[in-house]
Amino acid sequence: MGYSKQRELVKAIVASSCAHPSATDIYLEARKTIPDISLGTVYRNLSLLSQSGEILRIPVDKGDRFDKTTCCHAHFCCVKCGRVFDVPTDGMAALADRICDHGHDVKRTTLLFEGVCKSCAKSDE
Ligand SMILES: [Zn+2]
Ligand SMILES: [Zn+2]
Repeated sequence: MGYSKQRELVKAIVASSCAHPSATDIYLEARKTIPDISLGTVYRNLSLLSQSGEILRIPVDKGDRFDKTTCCHAHFCCVKCGRVFDVPTDGMAALADRICDHGHDVKRTTLLFEGVCKSCAKSDE
């Protein structure tokens, strides 16, 4: 099994998910196509893909999550169910632009809000 084929598979799995999957989620999905792929290989490919900017790494407390959407956006992570939601923010792109105005080059932006999501708050009542 070629090295790049594994990377293509990992990328395709991230691209097909809207749920900001964890490395373990991606590993379990990848095994359906390449049964002998290792978790280490999945990790390595996720690192390469996020370093090259093809996917976005979101550093969540319980372990990194991965996102197909690489444009400037924030995330909200529920501390109860662990779900990660996209938070579109125009202000964030403007902020990055202002940093660029100072001559710096913004490569990556990570903004993470943590709290309790709507459905977990409901089930608490
Ligand atoms: Zn929740
Ligand atoms: Zn996202």
